[in-house]
Amino acid sequence: MFGKIKNLYALSCLIFVIIANALAILASCQSQPAPRAPLSQMPHWGDSLVWIFDAISNPPPPVQPSDWLFYNKEEGQNFEQYIAINPVSRSALRKQIYIQTFGAFDSLREVILHKTAQYLQIFYDLPIRHSAPQILDTNAIPTHAYRTKNEMLQIKTGYLLNRLSKALPDSAIMLVGFTDVDLYPSEQWNYVFGQASLYRRVGVWSLARFGNPYEDSATFRLCLKRTIQTAVHEVGHAFSLKHCIAYDCTMAGSNNLREIDSRPLHFCPICEAKISYNLKFNLHRRYLALAKFWKDEGFHEEAQYFTEAAKLSQQYGLTTTALEE
Ligand SMILES: [Zn+2]
Ligand SMILES: [Zn+2]
Repeated sequence: MFGKIKNLYALSCLIFVIIANALAILASCQSQPAPRAPLSQMPHWGDSLVWIFDAISNPPPPVQPSDWLFYNKEEGQNFEQYIAINPVSRSALRKQIYIQTFGAFDSLREVILHKTAQYLQIFYDLPIRHSAPQILDTNAIPTHAYRTKNEMLQIKTGYLLNRLSKALPDSAIMLVGFTDVDLYPSEQWNYVFGQASLYRRVGVWSLARFGNPYEDSATFRLCLKRTIQTAVHEVGHAFSLKHCIAYDCTMAGSNNLREIDSRPLHFCPICEAKISYNLKFNLHRRYLALAKFWKDEGFHEEAQYFTEAAKLSQQYGLTTTALEE
């Protein structure tokens, strides 16, 4: 998934925008007084969460050659822009995220899929349901929807997204697909880790490039972490979140495994404000559950982050699902 270098001027402008954005957030955070009023009386939900969680967040890392932002100029999406687009959300009818597998999964990848589904349920605080698995038989797929590259079978994401769209259950907020077959979005691209629609309520991603979980326990854990990171990112897109350029964030674009591995397993304060406003989380309860997940899996850095987030959410009274604007 490698684009073309546009030019150095565009790149330097992009870096300037990122730095300016980060400085603006920092400046606004330093200039605000300590919040004492209930959140319902604070001026804005988005500003409030940025104020609270900026202390445990990091600025975006410098852009390196081959990184996503090296090739793709992105403008980000602030809280107001997100609310204005009427993002995908749950409704009285649509209350669940459905998962669909394409192709056969071996036993360790089944374990990874199970743990990822468990994580999505905690992260998005929504029930997860499994649709019946579907096979991927190239004899039954149109020839324009697959190819062989470097002796690897690849399926076009658009084809799978269309299949998911047609299979959306009535009670589904979204239907997301997992496969261990490699993916590509169009002929110009070498591959893609995953792809989701901002509005069609579907997404798909692949475990094909995330390592062989049978190699050893370290590779299994890496494969699990990459799968969860990609799943949270793509489901975020399916909830209409665009790529993040404001912080080091799960919702930042990734062009390669080094970028995926460098991303945190949590949303930055701005993306967190968007999704928590949309889905009305009880943030404190959710952070405790996320910390427990990572602790149980032996990922201490991630457990530590969510433990800190749980402490802050309790300190600032984010212990109910009520959001008053
Ligand atoms: Zn993305
Ligand atoms: Zn973000």
